[in-house]
Amino acid sequence: MSDYKYSIEAKNVNKTFLKKYQEVKALIDFNITIKRGTIHGLLGPNGAGKSTFINVLGGLVKKNSGDVSICGIDIDKNTKLSKFKIGIVPQELNIDPFFSPAELLELQAGLYGVPKRKRKTDEILENLKLIDQRNAYARTLSGGMRRRLLIGKALVHDPEIIILDEPTAGVDIDIRASVWDYIKRINKQGKTICLTTHYLEEAENLCDNISIINHGKKIIEGTKNELLNIISTKTVLFVLERNISVPNQLNEFKPVITNNILKLSYDKNKTNIKNIIDILYSNQIKFKEINTSEGDLEDVFIKVTKGE
Ligand code: ADP
Repeated sequence: MSDYKYSIEAKNVNKTFLKKYQEVKALIDFNITIKRGTIHGLLGPNGAGKSTFINVLGGLVKKNSGDVSICGIDIDKNTKLSKFKIGIVPQELNIDPFFSPAELLELQAGLYGVPKRKRKTDEILENLKLIDQRNAYARTLSGGMRRRLLIGKALVHDPEIIILDEPTAGVDIDIRASVWDYIKRINKQGKTICLTTHYLEEAENLCDNISIINHGKKIIEGTKNELLNIISTKTVLFVLERNISVPNQLNEFKPVITNNILKLSYDKNKTNIKNIIDILYSNQIKFKEINTSEGDLEDVFIKVTKGE
């Protein structure tokens, strides 16, 4: 195996499209490093530039400037080899309805010039839990099966990196979990995964590292936990024994009281929850239950896109 640290590395990538005679800057000095063996999420709202970057990787969009390497291979210097290192799973569920899963994988392997003896059609179908549908018409497959088949198509040439563009867009919630499981499995088998998503729950569930992109620029990159730590505001809920009037000492915690539930927000770097409880006790306020919640990626997202 070749020696490289980053599965994908992009430096100062710019891409401008001409749309109705207007210039649209889809990527502006865009940088990213995706570590080998990780699941890396590329997060951002619609129009942020995520698909443009994926298309640059896949050779479908030509960047105006900047450097991109895949598994240490510069995509401009060795386009063909770099393309072999990645398998891209597109967003759309477009599959030729009259081919069977086995035929589609064989066809794809042919396109990549994988010799017959090296093809792993049945192994891939088995892995994807599609072996029972091996010879069925693709049009009879459910949404989840189609999504898995598209992942299978991206795997035929045994790439080191799998890129998934919105892997669960338009997919039912129960199917979403099975696609997540599958992505985790192929990651455990050694593939580096890069996925775009605008479902924050998906990123929280799957990703080791995350880059947030907006208006063509990367705003922040880090481990999931690093990003979650950015949010220092915690919320605590006290279920009170009886109705109270809120003492002034709690005003700094933005108290909200509804149906005997007292909600307070505090900065975990400045206040310890014990301080709050002490204030409650000193005011003879009794509670039956206490719940705290950390911020989630949604909060990170709002915070970093606002501060841009
Ligand atoms: P995302 O995938 O994050 O939703 P895109 O990369 O698709 O964002 O789009 C980024 C910006 O580039 C948008 O303003 C979009 O309209 C524009 N864009 C993308 N592809 C093209 C294209 N082929 N022609 C013109 N504009 C494009």
